[in-house]
Amino acid sequence: MPAIIESVTVYRTHSCGELRKEHVDQVVTIAGWVNRRRDHGGLIFIDLRDREGITQTVFNPEVSAGAHRTASELRNEFVMKVQGKVSLRPPGTENKQLETGEVELIADNIEILNRAKTPPFYINEDVEVDEALRLKYRFLDLRRERMQRNMILRHRVVKFIRDFLDAKGFLEIETPVLIKSTPEGARDYLVPSRIHEGKFYALPQSPQQLKQLLMVSGYEKYFQIARCFRDEDPRADRQPEFTQLDLEMSFVDEDDVLNLMEELFTSLVETIAPQFRIIRPFPRLSYTEVMAKYGSDKPDLRYGLEMSDLSDVFTDTEFAVFRSVLNTGGIVKGFAAPGCAQYSRAQLAELTDLVRSRGAKGLVTMALDGEPGDPVTGLTQDDVRSVAAKFMTVDQIVEIANRLGARRGDLLLIVADMPKVADAVLSGLRSEMGQRLGLVDPNLLVFAFIQDYPLFELNDEGHWEPMHHPFTAPRAEDIGLLDTDPGKVWARHYDFVCNGAEISSGSIRIHNRDLQEKVFRILGYSDAEIQERFGHLLEALECGAPPHGGIAPGIDRFVMLLAGEENIREVIAFPKTQSDVDLMLDSPSPVSADQLRELHLKLIED
Ligand code: ASP
Repeated sequence: MPAIIESVTVYRTHSCGELRKEHVDQVVTIAGWVNRRRDHGGLIFIDLRDREGITQTVFNPEVSAGAHRTASELRNEFVMKVQGKVSLRPPGTENKQLETGEVELIADNIEILNRAKTPPFYINEDVEVDEALRLKYRFLDLRRERMQRNMILRHRVVKFIRDFLDAKGFLEIETPVLIKSTPEGARDYLVPSRIHEGKFYALPQSPQQLKQLLMVSGYEKYFQIARCFRDEDPRADRQPEFTQLDLEMSFVDEDDVLNLMEELFTSLVETIAPQFRIIRPFPRLSYTEVMAKYGSDKPDLRYGLEMSDLSDVFTDTEFAVFRSVLNTGGIVKGFAAPGCAQYSRAQLAELTDLVRSRGAKGLVTMALDGEPGDPVTGLTQDDVRSVAAKFMTVDQIVEIANRLGARRGDLLLIVADMPKVADAVLSGLRSEMGQRLGLVDPNLLVFAFIQDYPLFELNDEGHWEPMHHPFTAPRAEDIGLLDTDPGKVWARHYDFVCNGAEISSGSIRIHNRDLQEKVFRILGYSDAEIQERFGHLLEALECGAPPHGGIAPGIDRFVMLLAGEENIREVIAFPKTQSDVDLMLDSPSPVSADQLRELHLKLIED
């Protein structure tokens, strides 16, 4: 990889990753941090590190007694500058792990630029360090190779996106961070105004309305590497602020947006992360289909383990557990785990614990004995090990096995519960079995688009909520249903997923005032609220708004996938903890009484 920093400055002639055989006999100067110091009776070896790599420097008292004396003072992480002659390492001492490993620098001049305290953890080794300590000393953590690799990768991803979109005629336009609440389904972060007493700005949950307004303004192709702020309940893979590639286009339909995404992400992976295989064309699946087959609208499509609804097989069942679930609106659904019929009691108990921890009442397992891989024809009751078996006929068991595509030697995993719970639990179980069975290829990225979502869903209070956000257009042929049966209206919304993670959501938008107002009313906004919150947008829709649509892929999560990291914090320079705390800055933190007064705020003691 070419050096990505221009290494020549007043402090140095080369970077620490640059020196090779062809530099032998040149006098060079390098600068960086002491990665490791070894004292070999007489000779002192210092591995000097900067962002580009490591170079071994050798201090020999016979070359320079002064430099050798100074070198003996060096400790890990001291900052230094060293001048010397590049030399081939003596035969047998080359280091193949290092790009500079054929050479060393015979030092004759050294300057300590700064000293360093002993760091709270090893910078020079990729060892496990308590995350709280890493986050408190993030400036040191970021000095570690793994973090530098992730930051460089992130930079390359963003740079690629910018260049790609620029070549396609997109304009990068910044939108403000102090705005007014725009709904994306989360709580807003509010900023009190000092000048306007009692009034607040909201930080954008996304630049959604602003990018739509830019379409009304005629910019046609907009994007922004945009910071979004959402005050949601903490979750492992969530950050209160995160970065999206926010994008909007005019005069487009779904295919235009999705084709652009497919081209962008394909060329991005091929250029920046060619170690991954991708599957083209990206599958386009319907929401109903993925929910039925995978119990999730962000399925990991690197493997099968497809589910089937088995409810009808159990309509007249004697099995009380299933009967009561089915009588109260629940479903029975499951999938087959190939070759797992011999799972031990302990292994089955682990799976049951897993489904219970995710909210299901229990798990019914059926082990199909016989020669593994043989078809289930000729199955007898004796071939089936399950608490449910005695309540079922052989025909029913064969029917289930066939629906789940099972063979002898397989283990059927079945959950009976309310549909939402059954899907959530089975989808978690599917991921677990995918891992256990070694079906998850780490070098494969399977992207997919999910389409055909309902426009609304009912929330727990029985009110309509948007599946995406209220600006999403309904399908033209369903507009009539908005007045009569909103639950039956399909949306022009799409999701973009990869390896079980939601990379992004987007939609074709409403560009007509009456329709937008109607949707707001269905969502329960009063006329006064509509005017107060969305008056600007409604007016814009009356001023020649073109048809438009967009999408907003999450940068953090995608870089995480490319970096092979499991935690979103590993690809963010200064992240917050899982409970939204910045341990380095110690934020959030109290403010002074004066600041509160200036902002016209009083704290209420709970
Ligand atoms: N603003 C949406 C979001 O952040 C994405 C979009 O519809 O473009 O989820």
